[in-house]
Amino acid sequence: MRPSFHIMTFGCQMNVNDSDWLARTLAQRGFVQSPLAEAELVILNTCSVREKPEQKVYSALGRIAQATRHNPKAFVALAGCVAQQIGESIFDGYPQVRLVLGSDGLSFAPDAIERLLAERDARLCFTDFSDSYIERPLEISPGDRPAKPAAFVNIMQGCDNFCAYCIVPLTRGKPKSRPTEAVLAECRALLEAGAKEITLLGQNVNAFGEDTAGDGTGFAELLRRIAALPGLTRLRFVTSHPKDFSTELIRAFGELEALCPRLHLPLQAGSDRILARMGRKYGRTHYLKLIRQLRAARPDMAFSTDIIVGFPGEREEDFQDTLTIVEEAHFMSSFSFCYSDRPGTAAERMPDKLDTNAKLERLARLQALQEKLSFAWLQERVGNDSVLLLEGPSRKASSKGEAWQGRDPYGVPVNIILPAGSGKPGDLVPARVTEAKKHSLLAVAV
Ligand code: SAM
Ligand code: SF4
Repeated sequence: MRPSFHIMTFGCQMNVNDSDWLARTLAQRGFVQSPLAEAELVILNTCSVREKPEQKVYSALGRIAQATRHNPKAFVALAGCVAQQIGESIFDGYPQVRLVLGSDGLSFAPDAIERLLAERDARLCFTDFSDSYIERPLEISPGDRPAKPAAFVNIMQGCDNFCAYCIVPLTRGKPKSRPTEAVLAECRALLEAGAKEITLLGQNVNAFGEDTAGDGTGFAELLRRIAALPGLTRLRFVTSHPKDFSTELIRAFGELEALCPRLHLPLQAGSDRILARMGRKYGRTHYLKLIRQLRAARPDMAFSTDIIVGFPGEREEDFQDTLTIVEEAHFMSSFSFCYSDRPGTAAERMPDKLDTNAKLERLARLQALQEKLSFAWLQERVGNDSVLLLEGPSRKASSKGEAWQGRDPYGVPVNIILPAGSGKPGDLVPARVTEAKKHSLLAVAV
């Protein structure tokens, strides 16, 4: 019988993309995806960026043990940032865990899993960092895998900015850019398999090519080369660091039609004092100037961001600076988090920590403001013409035709009714926005 597997993924888009790759690779080797209770192999892909990640992993391990208790052969592969942190010490308390895959270890997973199926007493751990990005077999061909309309491509791994609050440099290691040709080959294969939109992924994509693994091509040049590939309609990227945002990259937004007019640009805080304590190496003036320059290059630009509230030493007036910059930037959306200590970071050792209630109270104020701005931004879209990339049928039933969900160039979910049988995933549908809902839009075809 073919071995069955189940993947549980926590955290960022990079983890989701890694899990997708592993699922496809295992499927190609004859494994079948199954519900948790029927899985012989459970892969737990973890994240350690925010609050209590280890406890989350331990409780997930408890749930897995419970769900698979009828199968003594069932085992767990622990992957991702928590795996990198805990390493092989997890083997002591958790007999079900037989494989540990740190950040640079995932590419070894398929062979390691085959070995563990053959050698029932073995346990393996891959937590060494490598000096360069470890390429994975492409395993995309138009025949065996029609790509989703919107695909993701890793362009680098790791980060060495050491922002004071952040654990990523410790769990993902130094930045390692992929060779330009490898990125282009993966994009080409996805486009040939039917993808229309590509999102490039990396912890700080603006620094692409600048590490020792780089091949001389910078990020703006990479964008130009990808934008020129046949079949590409939309190009996006996450995440950018404001300190590394080059003039060339600003210009690219005005010149490359495929580049979507939406940028996720993490701000983290609006106060210069807190930004300096965070080690972000830019101030609010620089951030706002970038936004102005990008809007000048591309007037329809919209911005989203990440914000941390309650960083050690944050006073009420610092927090007010965050509220005012959020209004000034008119973010279409933001992800906001209460600061939490991460082990081994500079902020963990800082004095003047805020108590939980103070952080939660600020978070609530920030989120109330953002909700107002987000809805105002959605309302501004009403009456505008747009193009939707259809993703799939929507759950909403309609007597007037088929209900579909697509995304506009800003990545906003848009619901639309199309004549029965006229749409399919990946279609680009010209549309006019008719109504703003709380987090989505309604449109009609034009
Ligand atoms: N590389 C990106 C950047 O430079 O912004 C994102 C890194 S992190 C995976 C995603 C977000 O988590 C950060 O932008 C930050 O807002 C949040 N974050 C990271 N560490 C945190 C911490 N210790 N407490 C609260 N939020 C945190
Ligand atoms: Fe973390 Fe800063 Fe690197 Fe982003 S740039 S991954 S926040 S250290």
